[in-house]
Amino acid sequence: MKHTDEETLAMMALGEETDPAASLHLYECDHCRREYDSLRRIVTVMRAPGPVEHEPLLPSDDVWNSIAAELQVPDRAVPLPASDGTTGSTRRTGPGALRRTKRFPVVLAACAALLGAASGSALTWWLTRPDAPVERVVADGRQLDSLRANSAGYAHLKSDTGERSLEITVKGLPPTAGYFEVWLMDRTHTKLVSMGVLGPDGHAVLPVPATIDLNEYSVVDVSLQAYNGKPDHSGDSIVRGLYDG
Ligand SMILES: [Zn+2]
Repeated sequence: MKHTDEETLAMMALGEETDPAASLHLYECDHCRREYDSLRRIVTVMRAPGPVEHEPLLPSDDVWNSIAAELQVPDRAVPLPASDGTTGSTRRTGPGALRRTKRFPVVLAACAALLGAASGSALTWWLTRPDAPVERVVADGRQLDSLRANSAGYAHLKSDTGERSLEITVKGLPPTAGYFEVWLMDRTHTKLVSMGVLGPDGHAVLPVPATIDLNEYSVVDVSLQAYNGKPDHSGDSIVRGLYDG
């Protein structure tokens, strides 16, 4: 018995697919019906009015892998582990790739809707940009100057809760055995103060002490630092520029 493919199940769960054979198959096949039921729950939660509890209502691994392959989502951007060892990257270049591509817009919309309910607006934004390059990821704030060709940084000062914090995201960090440190500088790059380090995902929200004059320290900088016990700026900057906010 040939199982209904994951995209068709996703379409059916969204009410977009009316293939009678696929519908009939659901009555005969426990496996596909379970997949369908889990997708239906996601759709139901997604469409429920009012605030929604963010329960981990997510597609099964198979469905997710299919979606990831369809969208060529890079593994690092995939928040769901694939427990069966089948990953988006291994499925990405299968013989079905061309066939799948023809249905890309429809599946894209469906998956954005499905995943938007489960994973938040950032992923939806990412998924609904079909022209997005693989490395493109959501980031808040003003774009900083890239001092490394493949790196892009964004920084934003938040003060919504009365306490100031600097939110910074750097994509395309070079591989390193060291770490990435965030600095505030004056415009001449001669006075600087360390704010903290980037997380392994290239993101950090760092508290900014009220005693720092941000009119003076108006530049943010991210440096690659070695674990050598020296607290000074290494001189090896990845991104630098004015933050917004
Ligand atoms: Zn089946």
